[in-house]
Amino acid sequence: MSKLLFLVILLSANAQRLQYSSDNRSIRDGIEINYLDDVAEPQSELSYRLPNNTRPEIYFINLDFGDFHLDDLDFSGNALISIEILEDTNTITLHSSVELLETSLTMFNDIGSTWEEIEHRYELDLTREFLIITTAETLTRGNFVRINFTYHGTIGTEIKGFFRGSYLHNENERRYFVATHMQPTFFRRICPSYDEPQFKAFYTISVIYNPPYEFALSNSPAEFTKIEINNRTRTLFEQTSTIMPTYLIALAITDFESNSNTTSNGVKFTAYSRPEQIQNTEFALDTAIKALGLYEKAFEIEYELEKLDQVALPVFNRGGMENYGIVFYHEDYMLYEPSVTTAFDKEFAAATIVHEICHKFFGNLLTPQWWSVVWLSEGFCRFYEYYMTEKIYPTMRMEELFAVEAAQNIMYRDSSLTTRPMTWYVESPSAVAGLFDGIAYSKSASVIRMFLYSLSEETFHKGLKIYLSKLTSNPQGVAVPEHLYDALQMAVDEDEALPENYKLAELFGSWEKQAGYPYVYVERSYNDYRIRFTQNRFTDDVVDGVVWDSLWHIPITYTSKANPTFETKPKFWMSQRQMEITLDDVKLNSYFMVNVQQTGYYRVQYDEANWMLIANELSHGDFSVFSPNSRAMLIDDAAVFFENKILKVRIFLELIKYLEHDRFLRVLLERIFNAFGAEEVENEPHYHKHIRNIAINWACQAHLDSCISETRFKFNDVKEGTRIGFSNDHETALFCNGILKGGETEFNFMWNLYTNSFVATRRTFYLNSIGCIENEEILTRFIHSILESNDIDNSNEEWLTIVQATYANGPIGLRVALQFLREKYDPFIDLLVRLDRLSSLNSIFRGIANRINTETLSRQFRELLVIYEIDDATLNDVNETTTVNLAWLATYSDDIQEFLDDFFRIRSFSTTTTISYFMIIFGLGFNWIMQN
Ligand SMILES: [Zn+2]
Repeated sequence: MSKLLFLVILLSANAQRLQYSSDNRSIRDGIEINYLDDVAEPQSELSYRLPNNTRPEIYFINLDFGDFHLDDLDFSGNALISIEILEDTNTITLHSSVELLETSLTMFNDIGSTWEEIEHRYELDLTREFLIITTAETLTRGNFVRINFTYHGTIGTEIKGFFRGSYLHNENERRYFVATHMQPTFFRRICPSYDEPQFKAFYTISVIYNPPYEFALSNSPAEFTKIEINNRTRTLFEQTSTIMPTYLIALAITDFESNSNTTSNGVKFTAYSRPEQIQNTEFALDTAIKALGLYEKAFEIEYELEKLDQVALPVFNRGGMENYGIVFYHEDYMLYEPSVTTAFDKEFAAATIVHEICHKFFGNLLTPQWWSVVWLSEGFCRFYEYYMTEKIYPTMRMEELFAVEAAQNIMYRDSSLTTRPMTWYVESPSAVAGLFDGIAYSKSASVIRMFLYSLSEETFHKGLKIYLSKLTSNPQGVAVPEHLYDALQMAVDEDEALPENYKLAELFGSWEKQAGYPYVYVERSYNDYRIRFTQNRFTDDVVDGVVWDSLWHIPITYTSKANPTFETKPKFWMSQRQMEITLDDVKLNSYFMVNVQQTGYYRVQYDEANWMLIANELSHGDFSVFSPNSRAMLIDDAAVFFENKILKVRIFLELIKYLEHDRFLRVLLERIFNAFGAEEVENEPHYHKHIRNIAINWACQAHLDSCISETRFKFNDVKEGTRIGFSNDHETALFCNGILKGGETEFNFMWNLYTNSFVATRRTFYLNSIGCIENEEILTRFIHSILESNDIDNSNEEWLTIVQATYANGPIGLRVALQFLREKYDPFIDLLVRLDRLSSLNSIFRGIANRINTETLSRQFRELLVIYEIDDATLNDVNETTTVNLAWLATYSDDIQEFLDDFFRIRSFSTTTTISYFMIIFGLGFNWIMQN
């Protein structure tokens, strides 16, 4: 559903990765996993599943709302459900979490042509949200019964069932709307029902509501909307033209405006938004119409409803929801305003719309039988949101972005020991909600993509056509993975797309049923053409010698110097732990690369010699022989292996050296900085602020002219008094970077702000900003102020702030701080004694130790440790830190130093921050590589 900005995804992936290393060991791997055969079978004593002894045929639902814009959030409901008895029984079990009135429940039995009341009682099971109806006489198989409910419900504040949202009209008038969100288990909050995806039924819905609302929307078109007594409005919707699961039912009561377009097939597309945004709905209409056309053509199935509404909700907790015939979006993901919407946002909107339209086929038409296989819906639509958006907007290069946005991101998480398989059986509502995770979406999409390219796009789509059209033989329109495998197998057999005796269910099943994913270790014999492949599960804490039981059927594709190719059809399938083959189409002294275009959901580790051959080709050969996806994969795999200490840093650095040739980092940073600018935009999504901050910091630290000059310009505006200040979100970044190249004037200005402020946090802020100035003379004056100035408030530890801000400045500040400590030993110690702060010396020395990155600095630092008589514990710590830092640097000091100096001039150098920096920049870099 929702599609987050790739930057955020990659950044958080990085953060998560760092966390994982300290994660507790897993619990889930030891538990027996329930596979598809068990889908319909309850697992625990307390089953949350409905029995299969009855099924709903049609719902007639009337809902009556109060003045919800005046905070009356109650509604009353009346529902009549026609139910077929599938087995002789005395009980009917439904879901319900509305307030039922006992007297309002009646039941009839079809005897001949009359309906008669049947004696019954009901009970509620609050834990399972069950409504269990017990009848005095046995209901017999093949009969239909009708149950009538009258009940009360509430419009919630959470986005579950009915919810109320609002927006500001003309900047002064608060207007309200009511909409729904049912997936996965919230329909029971608006009506007693069979609230499981397999129980599809027809619906006839009507709603009554008060002025000022003039119309309501639902899955079907309105049959009529008319004013009734007391000036109340009633809308009756046509009976749904097809069966639907409860989670796809939707309602909205709004004062939105609309914009329509009818396709050549006669499907009416309408976009709804609040009045001031209606001119920005054209993009959503256009994209949805094009997407539907492409899907219809690819699957040779026509969309079966007569209308498709898209509603832009000002309040919604996800990107979109694919309700049948009426898709709800958060308006940020649907509206497009040229010249205001950024290119990034346009991509999100396009991909979200294409994703939701995909659900018309995967999910709506063919519904996962139970939530454990929700990947049959979300995995396909996550895949197609890239694949089909690429076809509509080729310049977005979405298909290439898949590997870095979806696949690599989920690989980080899927290497956790607590990851789950694609199919994962659970029952309770809270466990079901947890199934809408990266495994259901991105991992499943990655596996689907792997099979599409392994079988060929043509064969795969042929299989999908069979799969979707099998609906005719499956009147309930629900699917389990076996349906998919059978259909794909038919296409495979027809096209001979797999080697003889290869069963698709077995191949695909190895990815669906097992948690995690493999890495393939490729060892070459450089005397002859033998290559040994070994597979093992990849976890984020690879331990040498640990071999997991899991085995996958891995499609092996490769390219080599002798035979460069972008071909994604596997050369062979690897099913065993280890195999050795002779490949005489590979030259002995040149690179060999596996997993072309990263279409396979696995990592590849090579022997050192081959990594060096790849690195050499990237740096000194023609790196375009590797597709953008492959380049991104090589760096991602290498970064992960390096982080897990199974790849030497020397090789890793060799590999990334080519990035410098591209000057890619600077260009990348510039692109991001220019896209987001230094100025806050009104009403922008929150993550924009987040990214802007990162962009400002990085671009300025890379000394990009545009960043330095723009932040300086803004800083000057503040200095000259032509603007009051900066928004809280960006103040730190703008002050620090605006002052970076500053001198005397800038220092005096900030010092004045500092001395004239009486707010402790502001004063600390100004001091830290001054510490950003990259000017030796100024910094010297700054640190000396702790001994010489009367302005410093030492009750607020401002002397310490100044010392820290100085040494954290970067190479210049570090030099200045060391010099100060050496030359001003006596007065400095006097100050600390006076303040009773001698103990702070330890933290200062620890802080400096982290930043020591040359032998010269290290020597000066060790001399200071002696002079200051640092205690043994601290001494051990700082010695260890500097030793590790220097050892790390010694391995590749020239490369790394040059790299850092040229591109970042990182202020606070330490091994860990440098590695993180690398990771983050690579994350960003991937996207850039994609686009070039
Ligand atoms: Zn979805």
